[in-house]
Amino acid sequence: MQKFAKRLDSLKASDSIAMHQKIKDFQKTTDIIDLTLGQPDFDTPEHIKQAAWKAIKKGQNKYTTSYGIQELREEISIFYRQYYHVGYNPLKEILICPGAKQGIMYLMQSFLNPGDEVLLFEPCWLSYADMIALNEGIAKFIPSKNNLHPDVDRLEEFVSPRTKIIVINNPNNPSGYVFNWNELKNIVEIAAKHDLLIISDEIYDRIVFTKFNSLSQFENERDRIVVVNGFSKTYAMTGWRIGYVLASEKIISKIGLIHQHTATCASSQSQYAALKALTGKQGFVSQMNSEYQKRKDLMLEGITKTKFHVVEPKGTFYIMLDVSVLNVEAIQNAPTLLTKCGIASINGLSYGLSAGKYVRLSLTQNEEQIKETCSRLMRVI
Ligand code: PLP
Repeated sequence: MQKFAKRLDSLKASDSIAMHQKIKDFQKTTDIIDLTLGQPDFDTPEHIKQAAWKAIKKGQNKYTTSYGIQELREEISIFYRQYYHVGYNPLKEILICPGAKQGIMYLMQSFLNPGDEVLLFEPCWLSYADMIALNEGIAKFIPSKNNLHPDVDRLEEFVSPRTKIIVINNPNNPSGYVFNWNELKNIVEIAAKHDLLIISDEIYDRIVFTKFNSLSQFENERDRIVVVNGFSKTYAMTGWRIGYVLASEKIISKIGLIHQHTATCASSQSQYAALKALTGKQGFVSQMNSEYQKRKDLMLEGITKTKFHVVEPKGTFYIMLDVSVLNVEAIQNAPTLLTKCGIASINGLSYGLSAGKYVRLSLTQNEEQIKETCSRLMRVI
């Protein structure tokens, strides 16, 4: 019998996959409101789909340059200049990859030696810890403050001689937290003091209900700052698999080697679609945003009539529901909510111990369903 590599030992299937099986079982008898999804409920806009179709018909079906088509890298560079007032050289400081997730994996592969530590603020996205484990690193979690706010004041306490990377996710999945300028500045200063790399996952940067600052704006620390972004959430393009990494030439050239030898390039048609997403009409982005905002406001208002509480998100399409009143073990929160009232959610525990008394709800259902969610929550306790 062939033996799998040891590094697979700590990998586990995500909670959302386990939850999907439970939802399927329940759907046979109960009307389920599924609030587990990690992707927009909107379809990719028509003009973006058409651009991919055009590319296919024009024969743009071959490998592209490994870093990605130059037009797309140029448009990303223009976008960052116009939106965040920062400069990235499209030829050397931008890499297009098959999703932001893949970009983060390349970074972990490039920087971690066995036993190296990565600092993560709780609550945080499920996949970081698994990617760190796959690269034989050690994830160290910084517990959150009240209301799931990241505890930036405690960051330095967690730095050890083995620390290599700080990961921030801004805006944060699952809490919707958006870091303020001073917090970002403190993180950059601590990283500089201890010579650490910062990976800033900004995949939700355009789904915000407040002022948003990107870590890319700290240009004088460009050598240690990597920003990861993509098209999945902003343009409802999760299935197209286009993400990108913005970093110094030195970093891009290293992760570019992994990319070259593992993916070759991102899908050519998807790159042309992404190009259209950036250069085409942008109304869709704000329309989607205001729809999320309406749903969030409905939820905030509806929840006041229940015994539950929520943490008000400042970005993303998620909202964390405090379900302490259910009075069950943290691992049972989501299953209990599902059995009691047919609301499917993800256990907060999946995002770190600090989120144990919460479940994550995705605001990826229409307003009627959000209202129905609140009235079910009102009846359940
Ligand atoms: N980063 C975070 C915080 C996410 O929530 C997700 C997807 O849910 C991703 C990255 C993945 O993005 P992509 O689809 O570009 O791989």
